[in-house]
Amino acid sequence: MRKLVFLLLFVMLLPLQAMALDEMSYTPQGTTFKVATLAGAKAVKLRLYRDGMGGKAVKTVSLKATPDGRYATWTATVKGDLKGMFYTFDVQYGKKYQGETPGINAKAVGVNGKRGAVVDLRDTDPEGWAADARPAIAHKDLIIYEMHHRDFSIDPSSGLVNAGKFLALTEPRAIEHLKCLGVNAVHILPSFDYASVDETRLDEPQYNWGYDPVNYNVPEGSYSTDPYEPTTRIREFKQMVQALHKAGIKVVLDVVYNHTFNIDGSNFQLTMPDEFFRKNADGSYSNGSGCGNETASERDVMRNYMIESVKYWVDEYHIDAFRFDLMGVHDITTMNEIRAALPQDIFIYGEGWSAGSCAIPAETMGVKAHMQRMPGIAAFSDEIRDALRGPFDNDKKPAFLAGLEGNVESIKMGIVGAIDHPQVDYSKVNYSKRPWTLEPTQMISYVSCHDDMCLVDRLKASIPDITLDELIRLDLLAQTAVFTSQGVPFMLSGEEMLRDKKGVHNSFNSPDHVNHLDWTNMERFPHVFNYYCGLIELRKHHPAFRMGNSGLVRKYLEFLPGDDTMVAFHIKSGLKEQGVDEPWGDIYVALNAGKEARSIEVPQGVYTVVCRYITCDERGIGTVDGGKVTVPAQSALIFHN
Ligand code: CA
Repeated sequence: MRKLVFLLLFVMLLPLQAMALDEMSYTPQGTTFKVATLAGAKAVKLRLYRDGMGGKAVKTVSLKATPDGRYATWTATVKGDLKGMFYTFDVQYGKKYQGETPGINAKAVGVNGKRGAVVDLRDTDPEGWAADARPAIAHKDLIIYEMHHRDFSIDPSSGLVNAGKFLALTEPRAIEHLKCLGVNAVHILPSFDYASVDETRLDEPQYNWGYDPVNYNVPEGSYSTDPYEPTTRIREFKQMVQALHKAGIKVVLDVVYNHTFNIDGSNFQLTMPDEFFRKNADGSYSNGSGCGNETASERDVMRNYMIESVKYWVDEYHIDAFRFDLMGVHDITTMNEIRAALPQDIFIYGEGWSAGSCAIPAETMGVKAHMQRMPGIAAFSDEIRDALRGPFDNDKKPAFLAGLEGNVESIKMGIVGAIDHPQVDYSKVNYSKRPWTLEPTQMISYVSCHDDMCLVDRLKASIPDITLDELIRLDLLAQTAVFTSQGVPFMLSGEEMLRDKKGVHNSFNSPDHVNHLDWTNMERFPHVFNYYCGLIELRKHHPAFRMGNSGLVRKYLEFLPGDDTMVAFHIKSGLKEQGVDEPWGDIYVALNAGKEARSIEVPQGVYTVVCRYITCDERGIGTVDGGKVTVPAQSALIFHN
């Protein structure tokens, strides 16, 4: 008991600068190394190496401790120019050395992230980096494109030289594709240093999504052209950011602070045993991540680590936004503190769920149901996703897109961005029985992401004997729902070229032929790409689809009587008076998943059609008279006056 009181006291009085430690400060005259440990550490050894792996230490130095309450900071300065050398720490608790680690704050590492590297970060800045700035794009205006480096560029059909590398995104063909499509934020799947791809065997095909963190503050080596040279991955990552920024495209980093690749070998455990991980009452490790462990964001030590880490990515790499993997594993306070610590233009969104039960009180978890307590942070809407295509846990189960009844209210909820809207009957929504956002920009609108099946596979799996024509119409219909939603639209890369994953649901380590984009589809289905471009252009040029304000959405977005297989809504004219620069008057959108044509009633007049069947062009593709307007089967219709 006394021990517990003692511990609690110190937890409350934590001096936290230890967590923001600059563990390696280089000058040509000497390099200072620092590492934080628990107060009980007996000794810390620093080993210096010529290489990032193999070879004997050329020097071993004992660090000196400065007690810091519950923790201790250990320091050593080694004289001489160490640039290009590698280092590890080895912390002794009791009689045991924990094993070599680059520490938890390494900014540069050797191959496979086993050793820290002595670098001057200024050497890693590409030309013009000082002038690089985050593009100014409001949260409501974001259009997010989620991609894996290898999916995007590994197939020769991509025509990209730097296949599977950060640098692919600096190539004109890649930039041109993204600009042509119209997306303005690229969400890169985990690109910090992760474990599951062996960086020493890159001549062999290896694939992983990368949700298995090793070094949180260093780019992944397998996406660089030389994982052995520590500055290369850093410089090439920056070149990627710079090229995207030049094209007016933001970069979203997928961050996975909720768990580490393993417990025992993790840098957290090697420096501060059990300090960063949650345990159950019985002493076992909690596993809310579904990956064998979960971190303890509610403890200041982990909370501060996360805050410092995201700030570092913003400052050093000019990252524009963060996607939090399993945000539900983190606590609400941590997420709010991260929000407060970052500039307002940085967009934050996450998965508003966990993969299992967590060892913190349920009411403190950063889950979707608690988003109203996390203003300025967004979460994915599985409501609209599953209402459109069917549930995560059953690929064969169809929904709205198959013409199934019972999904309309969930789609309406997605259209308004999960806000409180008088015409949405939350009692009939698939999952959430009440609104979960304060503002529509807190909801990510999507129908597919890297997880589970992409849209093409899902349509094939859930609608037996689907024809290609039907598949294309339903694909476009689904994305029309996503992109006319008041939430923030999000798409999986390759959907614009009808990608498939050969029917694989969990393709996290599937070979390239499953995960790659086949760019020859661009020639095979040009009308699909054109529709996606047209749809994105429509959204970008018409703020009526992204009001960004719940009051305006309640006032100006009105649902029309639909039926069980059609959702139709009207965005009323007059937004200009509210300061929304919408050039059109009344806008009507009808999403008909039924196998037969339907109709909606609109006031008399002549309207310009901008989206019908498999064409979407905001400049107009014909006119339609008011009164009873026919909505073709299995497609969307949009018109305005
Ligand atoms: Ca790695």
